[in-house]
Amino acid sequence: MKFYEAGEKSKAICAHCKTLVTTTFQYRDVPFDDGEGVVKDILVAVCDVCNAVVAIPAQSTPAIRRARETAEVTLEVSLSARDLQVLDLAALRIDSAATARFRKPLIAHFLRRLENDPDAPNRLAEINKRIASARKVPSLVPVPRKRLSCKIAPVTDARLHQLMQTTSLKKSDLIKAIIGEIEEKLLLPDAPPDLPVLRDVAAVVNA
Ligand SMILES: [Zn+2]
Repeated sequence: MKFYEAGEKSKAICAHCKTLVTTTFQYRDVPFDDGEGVVKDILVAVCDVCNAVVAIPAQSTPAIRRARETAEVTLEVSLSARDLQVLDLAALRIDSAATARFRKPLIAHFLRRLENDPDAPNRLAEINKRIASARKVPSLVPVPRKRLSCKIAPVTDARLHQLMQTTSLKKSDLIKAIIGEIEEKLLLPDAPPDLPVLRDVAAVVNA
């Protein structure tokens, strides 16, 4: 594979000069395709005649993609303290050093799994029904409400909205149903099948 160094010369068609020009690889701030914001210090081929960016080498594309993914969306829902504790106990099962920071990757992991599961909409609707009927039985002691607030990647937000459509659930009800799924898949079984994968995720998140 060709790897370009800063200062290296090449040739490319410049859209501005409308001809084949010599180029020099330089670090530049490059705007996103959608025009919102820029990616800083990306190695690109710059036209030697007009100074325009004419090409982006393969080695620079992951950085552009990563920068776009981390342009984050706020996820904020009101949950019961019990819901958050399900998440936190699941996190502890994955990693005994887990903190509240792991709530987000846990939800993101399940969103990704549910997205590829044709049975997910039915199951989440079932869980939602169960939660709704459980809610009719008042708790003997008060259970406080808490806010789950975190930043998620646009790809995770898109999965969330996709599942909201296929399940016809409001965002907060969907998150509660996903937490119900986490409870079933991670807390109840003696040997949850997802555990090894999630331990790998935890190792990276905590790195
Ligand atoms: Zn040019």
